[in-house]
Amino acid sequence: MTAMPEMVTLVEKSDAHLFGQPYEYARRELIEPDWRRFPGWAHVTEAQWRDAQWQRANCVKNERQLRRVAGDLLTESFYADLAADQAELATMSMLLPPQMLNTMAPHAAPGEFTEAFLADPVRRYMLPVRSDRDPVHPSHPHSTRDSLHEAEMWVVEGLTHRYPTKVLAELLSTCPQYCGHCTRMDLVGNSTPQVDKHKLALKPVDRQDRMIDYLRRTPGVRDVVVSGGDVANVPWKQLESFLMRLLDIETVRDIRLATKALAGLPQHWLQPSVVEGLERVAHTASRRGVNLAIHTHVNHAQSVTPLVAEAARTALEVGVRDVRNQGVLMRGVNATPEALLDLCFALQGEANILPYYFYMCDMIPNAEHWRVAVWEAQALQHAIMGYLPGYATPRIICDVPYVGKRWVHQVAEYDRELGVSYWTKNYLAGTERATGGDQAEILQRRYPYFDPISTLPESGRRYWQAHPDYLG
Ligand code: SF4
Repeated sequence: MTAMPEMVTLVEKSDAHLFGQPYEYARRELIEPDWRRFPGWAHVTEAQWRDAQWQRANCVKNERQLRRVAGDLLTESFYADLAADQAELATMSMLLPPQMLNTMAPHAAPGEFTEAFLADPVRRYMLPVRSDRDPVHPSHPHSTRDSLHEAEMWVVEGLTHRYPTKVLAELLSTCPQYCGHCTRMDLVGNSTPQVDKHKLALKPVDRQDRMIDYLRRTPGVRDVVVSGGDVANVPWKQLESFLMRLLDIETVRDIRLATKALAGLPQHWLQPSVVEGLERVAHTASRRGVNLAIHTHVNHAQSVTPLVAEAARTALEVGVRDVRNQGVLMRGVNATPEALLDLCFALQGEANILPYYFYMCDMIPNAEHWRVAVWEAQALQHAIMGYLPGYATPRIICDVPYVGKRWVHQVAEYDRELGVSYWTKNYLAGTERATGGDQAEILQRRYPYFDPISTLPESGRRYWQAHPDYLG
């Protein structure tokens, strides 16, 4: 067992910047990149671009459609790399609203487009290619489809009761965009050649009835994350009716709407019918003293455009109490102090979105090239302290299987050689209380989490080669 990680990287970094701050803040104006640089959108008007229906109808769902938009801006070798990934490794199907695709390689000259597109941080997680993946260990031996075991903690279909006072309500299994690293890859999106997705069995209305019934019967739950998938794909009337029923339950005091679409398809949240509906819900929440918030998922400053800021501002104007960001920390996307701080300042300073959390990427299959080690996450947390207002300084979180969210410095023990960190928990999941197992043992156990093998010293890498079943 080795000691806690030394901050070698940071010391070296600060030595290199003796005459200045390691990070220099400069206010940057948000930019909506010009979509007309894509041959397929050369004649798309601003009115079309702002139209949510146009955005949904023109999503890119496969290589053929990408070719129609990007044409020969991208080389044949890129398309081949993409096709290989789709066939051999992708855990999520392709679904890119034009808004998202337009934030990739925003300033590249046509002759340099493929190179810029390949290196682009948004492309790296929304449109993965074969050559991105770890060539030796694309998956950790302990990666699993439902890596957080959410379905095991369902108290009714889609309702995860993992924490004492909070539940996660998955209303549906689709989103307006699919992220390559989706932690719910088990359930969300269309099947891929690698992953046959599980399906929700109940009709949406029956599932929602059962969720409401559980919450009425369980007054200890005060906080409901309404999620999916993405709530932007729930027909508005259905979502509003569910939210109003939640607001009728006196013990529910916090409601959070989970929607990456605020950034991926802000046009959805700017539609008059949605804005008016959100206003009705926000007013009811305010009258009843319930905190209604939107939680979105932005991973890079490029995604924070004027339209995203407009959507966030509109939600706040109609009475949503807060808009917060829960990003995912990923190598090649945002796992540097500069990328994290650029994103946080764009969110906090320009879009009124609170930089709330960054989750470490979960241990799903084929995600090793994105994942960072716990010690790297700790170093990043250290590096971003002190620049933002304290309340807007995000916490970097490890979502430990069977435990839940832990700040990365809460690790109880850490074997750096084998990359195994150990964590403890201080509560029982709803299902653990209900089943009456050995509850004392659950609270005393150490729960392991595994660093990517590529981040280990040579001896650790050799050990995993020989012992892929090692459980820590
Ligand atoms: S928006 Fe969220 S649920 Fe949907 S694919 Fe992305 S990470 Fe998964």
